Amino acid sequence: MPGALFIVATPIGNLEDITQRALRVLREVDLIACEDTRHTRKLLNHFGITTATISYHEHNEHERAEELCEALESGKNVALVSDAGTPLVSDPGFRIVKMASDRGISIVPIPGPAACITALSASGIETDQFLFAGFLPARAGARRAKLNELIAIPTTLVFYEAPHRLKAALKDALEVLGNREAVIARELTKLHEEFARGSLSDLIERFSKTEAARGEIVLMISGHATDASAFSRITSPETKLSERIDELERDGLDQKTALKRAAKELGMKRDDAYRILVSQKNRRSK
Ligand code: SAM
Repeated sequence: MPGALFIVATPIGNLEDITQRALRVLREVDLIACEDTRHTRKLLNHFGITTATISYHEHNEHERAEELCEALESGKNVALVSDAGTPLVSDPGFRIVKMASDRGISIVPIPGPAACITALSASGIETDQFLFAGFLPARAGARRAKLNELIAIPTTLVFYEAPHRLKAALKDALEVLGNREAVIARELTKLHEEFARGSLSDLIERFSKTEAARGEIVLMISGHATDASAFSRITSPETKLSERIDELERDGLDQKTALKRAAKELGMKRDDAYRILVSQKNRRSK
């Protein structure tokens, strides 16, 4: 009989968040594949678990997935854990889960904490639908391009962010998405857990006062507005354009950026949008 691959979620800070089932599985399997064996050993020691561990991380997952599938096919039970939270959520594991599923090996999820869900649950931001976008790119150009792709998404946007990049990410989000409501969840389940809520510009001001945010961070930003205030109800494209530019300027964008963004949202070329705006201004001044 082939063994089973257990995908085991572990705490994101508070050790009390491990489940009874996770502890039993970690105790009973033949082998635990860990993102970092030393890190996981501390968790296992805390609970008196002596199961053998092996490393499984982004640099060895090709070979390790193959080796672990062979162990599974020979009847061994294997658990996969990451440093914190749910494996495969911005963490290694996809390769072995795909390989095991292609080979018909049974894969058993052992649910537990994930920072994105933990953050959403207490955020006060819309949670019926959301888009989890993982980490934003570290480089400014790629980050803005990614945010641009997300402009029209009407559901809450959820990101993981490194503390030293938080200010830059907030500024780019304000510039690209406009002044939306946002929530920063920091150090979840830990001593200094904190939720900071407000508009993107409020949060920029707040986090500019400190040198750099500390700890682990989930950033949630409300989706593209589709209510009566949004540009979609207004009829003619010219009116839509100028209304939308006014709206974006009120949200704090400069005229050039507002024009660029409104044109993009309305599917217009920037030059055409610019021409429309100039002719509107000329008409008004006559
Ligand atoms: N697999 C994990 C999960 O289920 O959430 C995520 C792993 S990802 C490499 C690590 C990122 O998750 C951190 O940089 C941070 O953005 C977020 N994160 C993890 N733990 C957190 C915590 N306690 N509070 C806030 N964010 C956390």
